[in-house]
Amino acid sequence: MTTMISTHPTSRIDHYLRTLKQAGLRITPQRRAICQFLANTNRHPSAYQVFEELAATNPDISRATIYNTLNTLQELGAIVELSFGSDHTHYETNPEPHVNLICLRCQKITDYYGDPGIDMLTTRVLADTDFQTAAARIDLVGFCDECRLQRIQEIRDMAKAASNPHKT
Ligand SMILES: [Zn+2]
Ligand SMILES: [Zn+2]
Repeated sequence: MTTMISTHPTSRIDHYLRTLKQAGLRITPQRRAICQFLANTNRHPSAYQVFEELAATNPDISRATIYNTLNTLQELGAIVELSFGSDHTHYETNPEPHVNLICLRCQKITDYYGDPGIDMLTTRVLADTDFQTAAARIDLVGFCDECRLQRIQEIRDMAKAASNPHKT
């Protein structure tokens, strides 16, 4: 796909900085630090996590600057919001086609590359509908390995409790 930008951190940070300039924002050292942070993480941070981690090393960055910068990047499509209800908004900062494996229980998000055939899918979509994909994002929602085991145990415990109604 020719419209896809490279995931090399240098290109990613350039992409973010260009986006801010497009929005008419001045590139201050604080905004540059935010872009740098986003370019170097593949961890799908929440706005609060970005604030917490940046504030630890850059005490002169205000929370408002961080939230406004994230909003601008999000509105212009440089980063994508991943929401699970109002409490958990995280940002997708990885522009490379991949699948997000999202755990419903612990909210852990893992990037999966493997061979999901995303290029094939977007080519097919273009052929079928004339919709040109600029960035691909596929979310698979479910349970991670740890939570899956805990759930099996919980379901067993529930079944046990149900078959023993007099015990709690
Ligand atoms: Zn989990
Ligand atoms: Zn991701």
